[in-house]
Amino acid sequence: MICNVCAAELDHPVYESETSLTSLCDVFPQPTRVRTCGNCGHLQTDEIENAAAFYDADYTILTESEEEDQIYEVRDGKKIYRTEHQVDVLRSKLDIAADTRILDYGCAKSSMMRTLKEDEPALGPFLYDVSDRYVPFWENFAEPSNWAVYDVPPSWDSKFDIVTSFFALEHITRPAEIVGQIFQLLRPGGIFYGIVPNVLTNSADLVVIDHVNHFTRSSLDCLLTTAGFEVQDVDAEAHRGAFVFVAKRPTEATDSSWAADPQEVQETACELQSIARFWGNAAARLREAELGTVDGGEVAVYGAGFYGAFIRSCLSRPERIRCFVDQNPFLQGSELGGVPVVPPDDLPRDIRNVFVGLNPGHAKTIMENVPAFSGRDLSYIYI
Ligand SMILES: [Zn+2]
Repeated sequence: MICNVCAAELDHPVYESETSLTSLCDVFPQPTRVRTCGNCGHLQTDEIENAAAFYDADYTILTESEEEDQIYEVRDGKKIYRTEHQVDVLRSKLDIAADTRILDYGCAKSSMMRTLKEDEPALGPFLYDVSDRYVPFWENFAEPSNWAVYDVPPSWDSKFDIVTSFFALEHITRPAEIVGQIFQLLRPGGIFYGIVPNVLTNSADLVVIDHVNHFTRSSLDCLLTTAGFEVQDVDAEAHRGAFVFVAKRPTEATDSSWAADPQEVQETACELQSIARFWGNAAARLREAELGTVDGGEVAVYGAGFYGAFIRSCLSRPERIRCFVDQNPFLQGSELGGVPVVPPDDLPRDIRNVFVGLNPGHAKTIMENVPAFSGRDLSYIYI
């Protein structure tokens, strides 16, 4: 097994799952195996079988409607959606004017470019993805001559001032090749702007089977530098649980060799191993906690996203889950694995035990601030 970023030989798996889940919360019939790279500090999951077919046909993220989105955070009772936050961060980092030639690469329905165009009506964004399922969304805000599916047209060579990539590189099995292609699409001096999950602050990223790449600060730097970019900014604070990076295509050819900082790679490897241990024991911990809820009737799971689906996949008797509870109105009224998703106000009065399917780094704070649950006699079980 070879590192997707630096081509060094990978170590033995640090994590192997019993059951696997995709980022869309579906059970996947293949164990998740995750390995570290001792050279660049990358963390890598063995590729899923038939990846191309999976993304073309099965990968339907947020395609229910134009507005469907994920909650980034609830601030003073107000829901902040992911697109809104991502646009704010992008605009805080880069100047985007009406005549900026901007391409959203691997864009899905590209709610980002749609939102940017609302602010900047004369903007003519370009779009690219590996599936044509998003074309009906693109038709609402872009010109057909500005989008491409499957193949990037040769006329796009050195064309763009900015290429963006929002949560795409983690899915790609040959990121070095794609980043090299993005380099070619930019004019000299152009900017590659992207966001990828940061597995050290969003640890569930490690157990998502279709996230083949888990970037660390050093592996991201290696990827961008080796492709010829000048890395200007890698920000781990602007978007919780993620790295936001800004990299420039230099105006003149520069040295693209990359050398690891062995101490940084070593420290990263230790942190990754501890995250791998946490998830390696999580299923057993949840099943033990489940035994303590047996006399309390049915249970609920707070969070109908990936963490909630993970809990359901671990429990011995998932049929005891009466409902999932979620603040996201786009999830309320839907089902996860045949179980209804309800708003916090609708948690049935007889439920006593609630499994908390949220990022373990923030779960306790979030649960202390659910107004609908204050004064109720509930036991919370954390991952
Ligand atoms: Zn590597």
